[in-house]
Amino acid sequence: MNKELLRIYKVLYNHFGPQHWWPADTPFEVCVGAILTQNTAWQNVEKAIGNLKSKNLLDSHTINRLPRERLAELITPAGYFNIKAERLKNFITFLCGEYNGEVAQMFSNNSNNLRDSLLSIKGIGPETADSILLYAGNVPIFVVDAYTKRIFHRLNLTPEDILYDDMQQLFMENLPLNTMLFNEYHALIVMLGKNYCKKKPLCEACPIKKCPFKKRFETERVSK
Ligand code: SF4
Repeated sequence: MNKELLRIYKVLYNHFGPQHWWPADTPFEVCVGAILTQNTAWQNVEKAIGNLKSKNLLDSHTINRLPRERLAELITPAGYFNIKAERLKNFITFLCGEYNGEVAQMFSNNSNNLRDSLLSIKGIGPETADSILLYAGNVPIFVVDAYTKRIFHRLNLTPEDILYDDMQQLFMENLPLNTMLFNEYHALIVMLGKNYCKKKPLCEACPIKKCPFKKRFETERVSK
């Protein structure tokens, strides 16, 4: 499995090149982006963060003081703005209450404990918590998303209904625990899912040549 995971990584890296995630100026901005990106395209998150930045509001203490309704208004482009404003507020309350609003202080915590704390915040699930840990805190933890599940199932490496933790464990037990590798690998999976391994996959152009799903897809097409 480890050879296969590394082989796929190399194919994706050679095809797409380095992705240099996360697109943000500060670790705090990564945390905000990780919460806002739930169920929406990144361009919408950029607009929402742009609204906060243009008004000089992208700061933990400032957001903490901002009424939730005003925050919701500002992050409207990110969609589900009332829910996301509440989630963002929940995170900020935690950050300000426990770590004086300082992301660097938050990451001085043991990463397992921090992950548990992040998961205990209402509205923060494993993908968001792990994105914060990896992309804001440089913690070597693998982020799993819907693309990861779809792609690795189609590659016949995981069951369709695999749980988040099992998928994460598969990567973390079979790859070197390396922040840069995990950073790039997740970003490259997103690129593959967005550009080729969509719901209706574009197998012919896909850089992954050895894919059992592609073979099945081609066989079905020829036999029609
Ligand atoms: S060949 Fe098709 S199914 Fe396989 S990874 Fe590429 S797009 Fe997805």
